[in-house]
Amino acid sequence: MKPIYFDYAATTPVDDRVAEVMMRYLTRDGDFGNPASRSHMLGWLAEEAVENARNEVADLIGADSREIVWTSGATESNNLALKGVADNFAPEDCHLIIGATEHKAILDPALHLQKKGFGLTILQPDADGVISSDAVAEAIEPNTRLVSIMAANNETGVLNPVEAIGALCAQRGIWFHTDAAQAVGKIPVDVATWQPTLLSISAHKFYGPKGIGALYVRRRSDLQLKSQIHGGGHERGMRSGTLATHQIAGIGEAARLAATELNEEAMRILGLREALWAGIKDLGDLQINGGGARRTPGHLNIAFGGIDGEALMMALRNLAVSTGSACTSATVEPSFVLKAMGLSDQAAHGSLRFSLGRYTTQTDVDQAITSIREAVTALRKQTAAAS
Ligand SMILES: *Cc1c(COP(=O)(O)O)cnc(C)c1O
Repeated sequence: MKPIYFDYAATTPVDDRVAEVMMRYLTRDGDFGNPASRSHMLGWLAEEAVENARNEVADLIGADSREIVWTSGATESNNLALKGVADNFAPEDCHLIIGATEHKAILDPALHLQKKGFGLTILQPDADGVISSDAVAEAIEPNTRLVSIMAANNETGVLNPVEAIGALCAQRGIWFHTDAAQAVGKIPVDVATWQPTLLSISAHKFYGPKGIGALYVRRRSDLQLKSQIHGGGHERGMRSGTLATHQIAGIGEAARLAATELNEEAMRILGLREALWAGIKDLGDLQINGGGARRTPGHLNIAFGGIDGEALMMALRNLAVSTGSACTSATVEPSFVLKAMGLSDQAAHGSLRFSLGRYTTQTDVDQAITSIREAVTALRKQTAAAS
């Protein structure tokens, strides 16, 4: 039996409607041409599919289609953003500001740049996991070039005040990047109000395929983003490589569906998340991590007091959930995101992330409530008996 899926923040299934569109660009009876082939119709048809998708993704975030650069996903987009800015400067002339709760796909490239001599400030969040625009303002140095603060956290769903941070950066003449992998397709994203210079997108977080994403690169900006992959000059020189037509058609269709269904879907998912919480909160000694902050509708990260998270996850084998973020769950270190929010090692280890999405049903939630109640009650009895 497959477990009930509560891990939409790690990845989502490809929507059937998206898969159907992707199929048209693979086999010999489809439009399989190279979008860069200018001399025949198969190339033109593939290029048309790529440009339609570019419009859909741009529309979803209020951008111009010329501001969308295809990448392999948010990891690559983040790397291109950070390194593509840093490459404009000598290390001593470039200081970067990021948050401590960023995804590894920001932390690791930032630390890589720091090793090469670039300045780096890592901001600590408040107890709810929020990085304030005041904290950003205080960290700005004369040679600060880029601020990179995520829109929504992957572990807690906590939203940062990107609108205020964007306004601050615009006012101070500093470029602003936001990793919006957990925001795009889940909450309204608008580059006009957030004012990012750069914004990262990943298709597989909103019912598109894995291995495709985009970087929004603002046109009205003095930023010259330096390419990190050379060869052929695709994507206006910013990211070379033959475009993956089927993947791009997929992210385009996923974006089109999100644009039309986002508001209704967010309300439905929020209702299910509230039902899940209402069904377990009287167990007592439970805390919602980031509970005091604005969050994405689908995230519910709970610290279960007096219980080991691994033991709880083992007891909940009928549910696909995460301890910490999926990307760090290979190690047994407590989540650095929860630690940065001030949780003890024990509380971080005793935390589980439930993330709900498009195919979550009331029945799923009811079964989860039953399973969680049984598991928590049994584990607490064991602990009480042992002490
Ligand atoms: C999933 C995720 C990434 C990585 O995206 P990929 O497309 O899998 O490379 C980066 N940042 C955040 C916040 C994410 O949730």
